[in-house]
Parts: sequence; C-alpha cells; structure tokens
Amino acid sequence: MVPAKRNSKSKSRRRRANQALEKKHILVCQDCRGPRLPHKACPQCGVYNKRTVKAAKV
Ligand SMILES: [Zn+2]
Repeated sequence: MVPAKRNSKSKSRRRRANQALEKKHILVCQDCRGPRLPHKACPQCGVYNKRTVKAAKV
C-alpha cells in the first residue's frame, strides 16, 4: 500500500507537537546531597535506600 494523499504541513506538525522529550527527573541524594536519578543508586556515594549498594566513586 502507498499513502493516498500527502499530509498537509499542519497535520504533520500537529502530530509532531506531541513528540517532545520529557524532562528528566533529578532528585537530591539524602546522603551526599548530590544529584541522582530515581530508582538508581547515587552516582557519587553509591547509596540506595539508605544502604550502600555499590562502591563510591573515589
Ligand atoms: Zn549520594
């Protein structure tokens, strides 16, 4: 199959208006107060859920 009609600029733009990237969520680490992502161990101190789960960065 082949598209019967080319979409108008307005139609393509209306569709692409909903394709923007979502803003990344950044939380503050309770342990070292550095930035960290939700559901991830802190990249600076390696703490997740008040527990060290990986070695801290030197
Ligand atoms: Zn931390």
